[in-house]
Amino acid sequence: MLLHLDAAALTDDQRLLLDRSAGTSRAVYNWGLATINAWNVQRYAWLCERAYAVARSEGEAQTLLGDMDWRRGSLLQAPEDLRRRPNRTSLGRRFTELTRDPNSRFHWWHIENHGVSRFVVSTALRDLDAAIARYWDGARSPDRPPRKDGRPIGWPRFKKKHRSKDSFAIFNLSVTSRGDDPWKAIDQGHRVRIPNLGSLRVHENTRRLRRWIQRGAIPKSARFVRRGTGWTVSIVLEIPAEVIPASVATRRQRAAGAVGVDVGVHSLVALSTDELVVGQPSAAFNRRLRRLQRHAARQRGPTHEQGPSAGWVETTRRIVRLQHADTLRRRGRLHEVTKRIATGFETIGIEDLAVAGMTAAPRPKPDPARLGSFLPNGRRAKAGLNRSIRRATFGEIRRQLEYKTSWYGARLVIVDRFAPTSKTCSGCGAVKATLRLSERVYRCEQCGLVLDRDLNAARNIRSLALPVDRGCGRR
Ligand SMILES: [Zn+2]
Repeated sequence: MLLHLDAAALTDDQRLLLDRSAGTSRAVYNWGLATINAWNVQRYAWLCERAYAVARSEGEAQTLLGDMDWRRGSLLQAPEDLRRRPNRTSLGRRFTELTRDPNSRFHWWHIENHGVSRFVVSTALRDLDAAIARYWDGARSPDRPPRKDGRPIGWPRFKKKHRSKDSFAIFNLSVTSRGDDPWKAIDQGHRVRIPNLGSLRVHENTRRLRRWIQRGAIPKSARFVRRGTGWTVSIVLEIPAEVIPASVATRRQRAAGAVGVDVGVHSLVALSTDELVVGQPSAAFNRRLRRLQRHAARQRGPTHEQGPSAGWVETTRRIVRLQHADTLRRRGRLHEVTKRIATGFETIGIEDLAVAGMTAAPRPKPDPARLGSFLPNGRRAKAGLNRSIRRATFGEIRRQLEYKTSWYGARLVIVDRFAPTSKTCSGCGAVKATLRLSERVYRCEQCGLVLDRDLNAARNIRSLALPVDRGCGRR
């Protein structure tokens, strides 16, 4: 459950502790990553040495190094510490040793009364393990795009202050409560109590959270993320199976039957019920953003040798806040739409990620005169941006529909990614050879159908999502 902290109600100690915990989390993550990177280098050096020792020529050594089986076999004879990658357990142990070492930069952990939870360290290392596992998963199945925006996953990168999303997590929320309702002590509807941080006021009403806990759910973890200028906290509850009511489609859902959902090119979402949901930021938002950006451009920025002016910092902060408000508005709207879809129908069809009627980006065109630089390839920056936003939206809609359909007893059908849903006529089934992204309206030359392109695609997705025996002979 995602809650937004009321920044005005934070005490100075809490604010300091939030910053300090985020800083610790980032430092530990980066230290762990650096340790693993160094281990990788060391292991490769050991393999090189070995390859050159047994090979008779440079080429043969290179062949050996490229041979995964040879590497695996050789590593069996490597020293113990090269065979096993440092993981969250061994790194956690090493961290504890470092805190006792007066020369280490983590020594403050041992001497200061800093209040940062030990869980912040273990979660940072756990996150690092997860990031590496995601990388290997992605490397093993390259055709499955596991990132939300559909791109393949890279090796974990260092977290930079200000540029990375600040976050940390605390576990074992109910450890002190000995089976009692951990938030019983606070009876107002807008507070949560987190170990170390104390009682925090949030914007949302925590009644639902409390009700789950009373019914037997156990609060597990709280993850804090800095968003814009404020903090959010998501609380994870472990809900025993017997507490969850079984979800069955309602009579209304069964009567409504199936719906096709298209993540539109020109609209946010198109439904086969002929409904278009628009998702562009409002004109007022664009106007305010442009005005602030123009203002910032006239002020003394960070590239100036004296550094940014106080005015520039303030303008930048206002831009961040404005964009954050817009993100929240959009996120709320997306939740509204997916909930309406999940509660309104029995079967919901959506296209598979990755393709979804999106044309591939033009390939980068390398500049033959200068290695590593690229010539313009006709891809407008704006088009690329729109595409990546649409892809992210797509992933988010699918994710929300996945869990919401299971809550509301609906069925989600992922439609084959190779079905030409946008080029096919939903009236007669004729397929067009080309349909440009700029064409907002689908016109069929065969049967004369004229329909918004996204609505046409949504209708096709609906027919593909229907069980074959009820396919109405459309396709
Ligand atoms: Zn037609």
